[in-house]
Amino acid sequence: MFLGELRKPVTVLHGVGKKSTERLARLGVRHIADLLRLLPRQWEDRSRLVPIVRAGDARPALTVVEIVAHDWFGKPHNQTLKVFVQDETSVAVLLCFNRNFLAGKLPVGARILLYAPLQHRFGELQAASFDFVPAGKYPLTREEDYLSEVPKISGRGGIGSILPVYPLTEGLTQGALRDLMQQAMEGFGKFVDDELPEAIRRDHGLPHLAEALVMIHRPRRIEEPEEGRKALAFNELFHLQCAVTRRGALRKRKERPSLALETGLVDRCIRDLPFSLTADQKQAVEEIIEDLKRPYPMARLLQGDVGSGKTLTALLSALPIIEAGYQVAFMAPTELLARQHAENSARILAPLGVRIALFTGSIPSPARKELLVALQEGEIDLVVGTHTLFSSSVRFRRLRYCIIDEQHKFGVMQRQGLLDKGEFPDLLTMTATPIPRTMALTAFGDLAVSVIRTMPPGRKPIITHLAKVENRPKVYAAVEKELERGGQAYFVYPLIEEGSREKIDSAESMYRLLREEVFPQRRIALLHSRIDEEIKEREMGRFLSGELDILVATSVVEVGVDAPNASCMVIEHAEQFGLSALHQLRGRVGRSDRQSYCFLVFSEGLTETGKQRLRIMKENNDGFVIAEEDLKLRGPGELSGMRQAGVLNLQFADLLKDGEILEASRKEATAIVSGDFELEHADHQVLKRLYTVAPPFDDLVSIASEG
Ligand code: ADP
Ligand code: MG
Repeated sequence: MFLGELRKPVTVLHGVGKKSTERLARLGVRHIADLLRLLPRQWEDRSRLVPIVRAGDARPALTVVEIVAHDWFGKPHNQTLKVFVQDETSVAVLLCFNRNFLAGKLPVGARILLYAPLQHRFGELQAASFDFVPAGKYPLTREEDYLSEVPKISGRGGIGSILPVYPLTEGLTQGALRDLMQQAMEGFGKFVDDELPEAIRRDHGLPHLAEALVMIHRPRRIEEPEEGRKALAFNELFHLQCAVTRRGALRKRKERPSLALETGLVDRCIRDLPFSLTADQKQAVEEIIEDLKRPYPMARLLQGDVGSGKTLTALLSALPIIEAGYQVAFMAPTELLARQHAENSARILAPLGVRIALFTGSIPSPARKELLVALQEGEIDLVVGTHTLFSSSVRFRRLRYCIIDEQHKFGVMQRQGLLDKGEFPDLLTMTATPIPRTMALTAFGDLAVSVIRTMPPGRKPIITHLAKVENRPKVYAAVEKELERGGQAYFVYPLIEEGSREKIDSAESMYRLLREEVFPQRRIALLHSRIDEEIKEREMGRFLSGELDILVATSVVEVGVDAPNASCMVIEHAEQFGLSALHQLRGRVGRSDRQSYCFLVFSEGLTETGKQRLRIMKENNDGFVIAEEDLKLRGPGELSGMRQAGVLNLQFADLLKDGEILEASRKEATAIVSGDFELEHADHQVLKRLYTVAPPFDDLVSIASEG
């Protein structure tokens, strides 16, 4: 839809030189197509009158006023012009900071069309930024003129129009961007194609894409931008869903021999566990095993809050595959985590005769070679490793099942790289990131989801305290008490070493302080990404076995680390972390029946929103609720939380409010892909193209399809 002529670089537009090209690139605009797809942040309605009495909420309003007086204020040598204006309803004041020259342009008695964000301040109705054009004899606004239309006064500050307000970047003005958009619309609008079949457009009352662009860039009614955006969103989601559904259909066509899986090993393993599985874990294991039997590869997401016991669930599900004589690969994002998973597997699965190996980047060469041979010969049933698992030297004899922990930490290529090592192996990805339903539908399409909602029994909710930085001694005292009771503590800092940011304590400097001054009697170690893998491993091992009391760290401990005896999590400069990171970090404690504590230490000068975020952490222990509250705080339309989660990159669709569009576009896409859509001949051509050209959301689609 945005091809051909529209792929031309922005330099074909008048006035776009080297500098502008760079500036536009900062907004992600390189081609004409990118420019046309730039969604305005908002729209200024300069087409309807708002009498002064109805203004005042700081939203820009258009009025016809008369200048009634000039005044001056400020220090004697640095006076600022103040212009009093009135319409038929009330009086307002324009403050002309650094614009005293306006005295000549706004003579007393003159009549202007004024566009200003008026607000009540200091007992007046004021505006410091405003646009205006002469209004000649145009009548002053009256109460009954509210929202009546103003005739277009062409080229005059957009009066009479609805103006788009674009996101800007340094050196690029709103006016310049509007000019470029105007040029692009006039010169290239006619090349915008709409690949949505005519019938679908008709059924859903959608404008053609070219018209949708007019609606967002040059709206004639204030409702148009939203109508246009919705059409673009439909298009966007439709393409995405086509690709996702199609990938799903392709996956199901990858036939391979189905397995009659036995559950002998699983049953034995579950019986030998020192605890019983939660109902959700049991169900997830069953769901997964059912899926593994199918004649086409599984693509499933295992979702569960931190500490809900996903690892065990995944390991259990691997047993029937191993029992059937196939190999399983378990990939984790960090060495630390891979090691931990390998140790867990060894403890739980090795007694059943499962042959387990750990494969990471730090395995020395001779051992590595042996391992590679063993894998290729099929002498290893379960290999646990990091991203090194998909390096080309790794070959399996019969890889049938890939498990990927913390899936969002891996790139699409990495995941695919692992899958390519077997013949259509099954895929289970795991995540603690709560993904709302609409999101899961969009992002993962046909991906099946298993959810673990309940925590293992006996867990006590973590008690979270917020502390100002000057109350640190109290926090430290509380930690000391907990250590005396036999607990262990994490201290987490946003930086590794001093200096990169002012006034922020680093793990290194605090490690020294804590060790030498605060807890001189305690056994303390330091852990961060720049520390040698070997040392990291050793210290982690010591922490796990209880030889250490305190681990000072950066967010390396964020993901997955499981030390059940740890009962204190102190996070300093907590305001520097995102809520999902805080929740992950806090999830490192409260992993046994021991009462655990989390202390969020925040710095001075924290904003109100900042405080509110920490309060959300204090009041909630459920990752889903935290994610939702976080979204609310960010405000509707703000999807960055999910963007951070690496799930989606949509330009027009807003999954919070476009649920209906999503469902509708999904239905159409599914119908088309599954072939029960009556294709008119013309549409057929279009669809063929839709499949042969890279869709505009290629990157996103590959993230989405997962299998
Ligand atoms: P996550 O879902 O965050 O990956 P883990 O798999 O690390 O969680 O599990 C957290 C801890 O809970 C581990 O120590 C694990 O052995 C333990 N665990 C798992 N399932 C149960 C259960 N049903 N009952 C008690 N403890 C469990
Ligand atoms: Mg985990």
